[in-house]
Amino acid sequence: MAGESEPDKHAPATRLVTAGRKPEWTGPAVNPPVWRTSTHLYENCAALDAGRHINRDGVFHYGARGGPTQWALADALTALEPGAAGTMLYPTGLAAPVCALLAVLKTGDELLVSDNSYDPTRTFAQRWLKDFGVSTRFFDPLDVAGFAAMIGDKSRAVLLESPGSLTMEVCDIPALAATAKARGLAVLLDNTWAGPTAFAGIAHGADMSILALTKHVGGHSDLMLGSVTATPEYYPRLRRSSLQLGQQASPDDCALALRGLRTMDVRLRRSSESGLRLAEWLSERTEVAHVLCPMLPGAPGHDLWLRDFTGGCGLFTFVLKGRDEAARNRLIDALRLFGIGYSWGGFESLVLPIHPERDREVSAWPPANWDPADRHAVRLWVGLEDPDDLIADLDQAFAAIKLT
Ligand SMILES: *Cc1c(COP(=O)(O)O)cnc(C)c1O
Repeated sequence: MAGESEPDKHAPATRLVTAGRKPEWTGPAVNPPVWRTSTHLYENCAALDAGRHINRDGVFHYGARGGPTQWALADALTALEPGAAGTMLYPTGLAAPVCALLAVLKTGDELLVSDNSYDPTRTFAQRWLKDFGVSTRFFDPLDVAGFAAMIGDKSRAVLLESPGSLTMEVCDIPALAATAKARGLAVLLDNTWAGPTAFAGIAHGADMSILALTKHVGGHSDLMLGSVTATPEYYPRLRRSSLQLGQQASPDDCALALRGLRTMDVRLRRSSESGLRLAEWLSERTEVAHVLCPMLPGAPGHDLWLRDFTGGCGLFTFVLKGRDEAARNRLIDALRLFGIGYSWGGFESLVLPIHPERDREVSAWPPANWDPADRHAVRLWVGLEDPDDLIADLDQAFAAIKLT
């Protein structure tokens, strides 16, 4: 699709409701039907042949290029990113950064990755890209000058994540993106924590804004999907290479994601408010050494979050004061309302024991200025339950580890 999306002056909450609902896709219904299709039939051979030459979004060709249900979701995500030209969809969140990287890298290139990035994306770079002759170097997510000094002749792209989805460092995205662009690097941003309504990735300097739709957009722990929304400069090559890689999302999952998108604003507000309440409560507890929640005044990254973000979500990490790993795990096991498991963004609260030290390459975990005894971390996803019930649950779990 050529050109940028038309600037829509409405607020993000309004655009979440209106985006992607083109009458030619929805018919008289509010939502587009689920178009399950592989084959698109043509009138005759001449029409089939003519169709070959029309290769753009929103035109039927073959199921691999999607149909109206997928286009409605892609279109909505494009409309939510000022400055975007188009969006590609993927069957998982992980396939999104993977395909964004494959669109811009070739053998001999170097990729720079912020050291707070999502673990499976790091693994893809360190193993798979390495085997294809692309080297990866990591940089401290808080060190803009250090990043600038690392850029070399072979550096082709930078992958950023802010806040880091385990350790919550907030990067100075505008500064990192401007530094990278001045040297001709493609800027890829995993924007899953904030999403496009709380952080406009492209407007802040990204060339591609990446989402695990599995999280906030899906919102109900019942689907896996990813997306990459790109600028006019990068969208054509992203689209070309992703189609060559055979990437497409299921129309059923896209219909669920569209349903999730419509309520995302209220869900994120509730999760943010409750998350902040839990973060405040935890920061008063004697058992807790650090609360890593950018929305919490005084927490690491709060100033940059205030400067650059218009919202947040209830995903954050806290670190126990002293204690061992077994005590951390007993605390988690004692929780009743928080499910133990991966992912986040659903209606239900989750808890996860995390091990950031296993992934770090250049920036230490725990940070060097902490008491080294404070190291066992817990990540919370705060869902839509009543926050008083969640606090009571944490309270009884802390009581349980006091006794042992
Ligand atoms: C969950 C997540 C992904 C991957 O999404 P999946 O749908 O689980 O594959 C990518 N990036 C971030 C930051 C995530 O939190």
